[in-house]
Amino acid sequence: MSTEKATGQPPHPALLIPGPIELDDDVVQSMSHYAESHVGVPFCNTFGETLSMLRKLFQTTSPQSQPFVIAGSGTLGWDMVAANVVEPGDEVLVLHTGYFADSFADCFETYGIKATQLKAPVGDRPQLPEIEKALTSKKYKALTVTHVDTSTGVLSHLQSLSELLARVSPSTLFIVDGVCSVGCEELHFDNLRIDVCLTASQKAIGCAPGLSIVMCSGRAMESFHNRKSRPGSYYGSFRNWLPIMQNYETKKPSYFATPPTQLVHALHTTLTQVLSRPLSERFEQHKKMSQKVKKAVADLGLDQVASKPENQANGMTAMYLPEGLTPPEILPSLAKKGVVFAGGLHREIASKYIRFGHMGVSVMDEGRGDIERAIEALREGLAEVQRERGDKS
Ligand SMILES: *Cc1c(COP(=O)(O)O)cnc(C)c1O
Repeated sequence: MSTEKATGQPPHPALLIPGPIELDDDVVQSMSHYAESHVGVPFCNTFGETLSMLRKLFQTTSPQSQPFVIAGSGTLGWDMVAANVVEPGDEVLVLHTGYFADSFADCFETYGIKATQLKAPVGDRPQLPEIEKALTSKKYKALTVTHVDTSTGVLSHLQSLSELLARVSPSTLFIVDGVCSVGCEELHFDNLRIDVCLTASQKAIGCAPGLSIVMCSGRAMESFHNRKSRPGSYYGSFRNWLPIMQNYETKKPSYFATPPTQLVHALHTTLTQVLSRPLSERFEQHKKMSQKVKKAVADLGLDQVASKPENQANGMTAMYLPEGLTPPEILPSLAKKGVVFAGGLHREIASKYIRFGHMGVSVMDEGRGDIERAIEALREGLAEVQRERGDKS
């Protein structure tokens, strides 16, 4: 069994992990583009259009906003923030909803920035009163939040955080790790007064892995321009990339380091598809399919790691396995049924839960049947394992 409708691709199990995700045929085909110069007119046009489309995806119309698309994974976005937007000695407050906050904090520390984490119990998120208390106790240069923490499936609420910052600490930069949310969760860069939102090509955007995507506000760029020390990275330096991005967006050639031309084509293709329909429809469809998955999970008697409905992401579901069952016991049986889920990632609970990514084309194109098949595989797989255990005992 495999993705039935993917005509252009060899049969394969449906990749339903929280990134990388299934690719549309046209996106796959874009990656076999013939070789072309990264400074030639055709590629400058493709890259320029891609950057302009990113403004639409992030819902920003401010001319001061600045997109960056650089070869690397989502992780490079953390490095770019730490190396350019904040400076050694600065204090940042990191809201912790899982594994990815630990890593972002570690990245800051690598660059000599002091990261203070505000942690919540596993499956929950820090609450506004404690965040307010932290913000008023010290001057933080930036607040970071993981919009969807892929290790727990916890969704953070950007609107209330934005309002809190405006009220108690307006000079603090608002930094959003949107690696698992841009393209599947409502995110309005301008209205939420976000200063940096970083993401990656391979999650809800529906491209292959390999591109780090960062959107900066005018305020974040000002913070970069006003820094006293030079950027803490060479490859990731805005000083090196800013002129390149500005030139590409006006379709002019320039060079700092060679972009992966085929991947940029693939990103162009997926963004063209995503933006061909209103974004609101896309977010609604993710919500609808997420509700379907979450209902099926509840019907199977499984608890979600994000226990409160208001904390549950729409592009993925992290679910605890029945008592005593571990991911290596169930994942291979799901793979045999043609679906690939992910094991646990959060250190404290890693051996107790699995993760189901439901984003992008698998959700938007219901005709593929990916989500239905995954729910069915989960139901059958769990029943089989329970039966085998029953036989043994
Ligand atoms: C996947 C992910 C990252 C890291 O992205 P890579 O492309 O694996 O480097 C960072 N943050 C979140 C929330 C993620 O889901």
